[in-house]
Amino acid sequence: MTSSRPSTMPAYRVQDWLEQPRLTDAPVPLPGRGEVLVAVAANGLCHSDLTMSQIPAEIGAALGWRVPFTLGHEIAGTVVEHGPDTAGAPPPGTGVALVSPASCGRCRYCLTGRDSACPNGLAGRGYGQDGGLAPFVVAPVRSLIPLNGLDPIAAAPLTDAGATSYHAVRRVLPVLGPGDTAVVIGVGGLGGFAVQHLRACSPARVVAVDVSAERLATARELGADETITGIGPQPSAPAQLAGAIRELTGGEGAAAVLDFVGTDATIAAGVGAVRPFGAFGLVGAAGGQLRAPWYGGLPKDAEIFTFQGSTIADAQAVIALAAAGRIRSVVDVFPLDAVAEAYRALHEGTLRGRAVVTP
Ligand code: NAD
Ligand code: ZN
Repeated sequence: MTSSRPSTMPAYRVQDWLEQPRLTDAPVPLPGRGEVLVAVAANGLCHSDLTMSQIPAEIGAALGWRVPFTLGHEIAGTVVEHGPDTAGAPPPGTGVALVSPASCGRCRYCLTGRDSACPNGLAGRGYGQDGGLAPFVVAPVRSLIPLNGLDPIAAAPLTDAGATSYHAVRRVLPVLGPGDTAVVIGVGGLGGFAVQHLRACSPARVVAVDVSAERLATARELGADETITGIGPQPSAPAQLAGAIRELTGGEGAAAVLDFVGTDATIAAGVGAVRPFGAFGLVGAAGGQLRAPWYGGLPKDAEIFTFQGSTIADAQAVIALAAAGRIRSVVDVFPLDAVAEAYRALHEGTLRGRAVVTP
């Protein structure tokens, strides 16, 4: 792409701090040193996008974000142009998925394969920098994973929903033996993949929890063995859900509970349903808090963890699982001019799968 390069393109952007995102014009980016230009074929929409326009300027500045920026951090497309110093980059025409979390590749976390905790990756494509809800985006060579024929519409949601849920599942695999139970609370975009990763990678029985009957039906199709209807915020709700999980496990509790909702109620229920030497992972960003006394409130010898995003190795693993037909993406496809409608459906919980926009 040289003389034929357009100068502007439509993009769904956060124009200023605390402003609702909208479809507007943006410059077509030039790939910098170590970067390639990618023609975006598909961009998945994440629940966390809904919070991007609630970031005040002070916090945005502290994270190294700048406005305006284009939303979208689940991207797959085709390499169209190389910037300088891109030796080893896949040639133009190659289909690629873009690793969603940003990372520097130089710090001690990156150098030891723990790049999800890179302190230099707080701003990235779709969060403080231009993302994939536009026809073109730039990306460092380090973030490119060849698709090898995998459909970009299926691949895009793998880069965050697929990889973040894999990061959680990989972490709890050591406590999941035959006869054990793993519980997934909130089987939407991320949780639907968590059910599949558990099915593909562990011998555990999988229990799905959600407030939506449609999501529970999809979770069954994706491999959940049992389903439980989720809870609201009423004070008795956590004990009720923990009780339902205990009942399914002969009173013992689940070996692992992964919470993709993250309210006070789901955290209390999840922690309360873990058996000794089990694990509770908090992924959902609803802002809930854990309040539990050391005696009687926490499962003995269990692990409680949280994290953000995923590693490059996680993204490579889920692309490989999808290419091998072991997991699949359930998607609802929207054109770029229907992106606001797609976000509304995500917010209202009326999607069947992951919303994917095709710029
Ligand atoms: P989603 O909207 O696709 O899925 C959420 C699911 O939770 C829906 O199926 C919904 O019906 C269900 N739900 C809502 N309230 C519930 C309740 N009380 N009990 C049981 N189920 C309930 O969202 P998503 O894109 O899959 O994201 C899930 C969460 O993960 C969000 O909070 C998002 O911000 C967060 N997230 C975290 C990371 C991370 O790195 N930690 C990365 C991406 C997304
Ligand atoms: Zn780093």
